Amino acid sequence: MPEILDGHALISAIAYFGGSFDPVHEGHLQTALELLDRFPFERLTLLPAARSPLKDDGAAFAHRLAMLQLAVSCHARLQVDDRESRRPPPSYTIDTLTELRQELGTDQPLVFILGLDSLLTLNQWHRWRELTDFAHLLVVTRPGCSPDFVGEIAEWLAAHRVNDPRMLECAPNGRILLAETTPHAVSSTAIRAALHQGAAPETQPLPASVAGYIRHNQLYGVSPPHESRTDF
Ligand code: ATP
Repeated sequence: MPEILDGHALISAIAYFGGSFDPVHEGHLQTALELLDRFPFERLTLLPAARSPLKDDGAAFAHRLAMLQLAVSCHARLQVDDRESRRPPPSYTIDTLTELRQELGTDQPLVFILGLDSLLTLNQWHRWRELTDFAHLLVVTRPGCSPDFVGEIAEWLAAHRVNDPRMLECAPNGRILLAETTPHAVSSTAIRAALHQGAAPETQPLPASVAGYIRHNQLYGVSPPHESRTDF
């Protein structure tokens, strides 16, 4: 017998974690793994943005995708979806959620994961109020960000917010849950800045495979690996 809440059978949700992943770092990965432990997601998929409409520098999509694939390769329950690169620009989350809803059907609970910093500026996103017409939002802790909501975001949040995680499983979309996750004071911006200033990728909060990829491909101003000298 399925568990029933509020008269509805609970159905495992499918979760997508969107971002630039420029590069993917331990904050993304540890948060995703924690959510897989805490929530009954059928799967959790990392969804790189083709090019964020709000950011215009950084590594090419193919590099960001390759780093994500390396990062998830040792985590069986994490996947990567490259669909945003296959659509003509600009890349909007609302278009991806619309597409996913068409693929998943009307009843499947779908959760879009984002950090608290993203929620605080969500009203800059294209058709932001409609995001919950297609998915639930699961908002995770981001160090340096307080849940101080004001104005239209505060009003919208109040209309959609739930506190019981099971509420994400008894409806396909429409709810927002703020989860207290373990804080990881890591950002792609800080990593890119450190690398541009000469820090070794291996010293950054990155999976070793991603650090190696950055070094090998000389991303973010990193110099190439030392070649062994045989000519002396
Ligand atoms: P940037 O510094 O370039 O803005 P970022 O580190 O925020 O990058 P993104 O790829 O933009 O990484 O983030 C994707 C999503 O992951 C966003 O919703 C963001 O809030 C969230 N996120 C990023 N880093 C963390 C972290 N350390 N802890 C929790 N959530 C995070």
